[in-house]
Amino acid sequence: MHADVLKLSELISDADGRGISLGQLALEQEVRLTFNTSDCLRGHMRLQWRVMQEAMEAGLQSPRSSRSGLVGFEGSIMNEWVQDTRGTGAPVLKLAARAMSASCINACMGRIVAAPTAGACGILPAVIACAQEDTGCSEDSCVDALFAAGLIGVVISGHIELAGASGGCQAECGSAAAMAAAAAVQIYGGSPERSGHAAALALKNLLGLVCDPVAGLVEIPCVKRNGFLAVHAWLAAQMALAGMNSAVPADEVFAAMAKIGRSMPEGLRETSTGGLAVTPTGQEIRSKMDIRYSSLD
Ligand code: SF4
Repeated sequence: MHADVLKLSELISDADGRGISLGQLALEQEVRLTFNTSDCLRGHMRLQWRVMQEAMEAGLQSPRSSRSGLVGFEGSIMNEWVQDTRGTGAPVLKLAARAMSASCINACMGRIVAAPTAGACGILPAVIACAQEDTGCSEDSCVDALFAAGLIGVVISGHIELAGASGGCQAECGSAAAMAAAAAVQIYGGSPERSGHAAALALKNLLGLVCDPVAGLVEIPCVKRNGFLAVHAWLAAQMALAGMNSAVPADEVFAAMAKIGRSMPEGLRETSTGGLAVTPTGQEIRSKMDIRYSSLD
């Protein structure tokens, strides 16, 4: 798809006008552009979904420490807490647990699906898994929701590259939250128009989010951020489903995010020379990592 010519408002009008979902619209576009059959593309997306599920499951059931030792068990710790709370707030806690699990697997160099990036890999699958658990929807619906999420990601990427180095974490985890919110709306039976509002609500409340990973590793604050933003995306979806609108349309929110991203100081765009990375603790962790890794040379 050529993202630079895509406007979400036009895609939504098209989908709403024809009574199809954003996921179906995305699949149609992919068929046209790749010359693959829809069955083939759906099969490929189904594989992505299964890898996402495996990553979430691995982080919950067989967690391990990342090489740095900084992260690795967040998802399973949260999951144990879900059992301890005896149901209080369980769905939302499970959502965070799943997102952190996939993110931990990324930090441990395990297999994940970048959605849209490796650093933000937990948000989308966690939201879809929880929506599936809540609604009892089929695997096919999850696959369709992934197409809808992909469409949102493609539209946003027409404004700015989806990378912390380009636009800060708002471009990575913020985009993931927008994608996840739109996908969840679709699973719950909301219209494409509702998905658009969900994406806008999710992203506009993350504008300005910087990328400042401690010691240059996609671990702090990334793993826990995946947990937080999965919940954030979920709330955006539920707000949109409840009928709340984003006063600023999604396309304008995407453009605003890109503009903010481009004006962000370099130190807050994945260089680890600003923000949390240069706090006393961030620097202390970095020196420990430097010593540890130099001793392995
Ligand atoms: S803080 Fe930076 S490295 Fe971490 S998830 Fe966000 S964009 Fe990626």
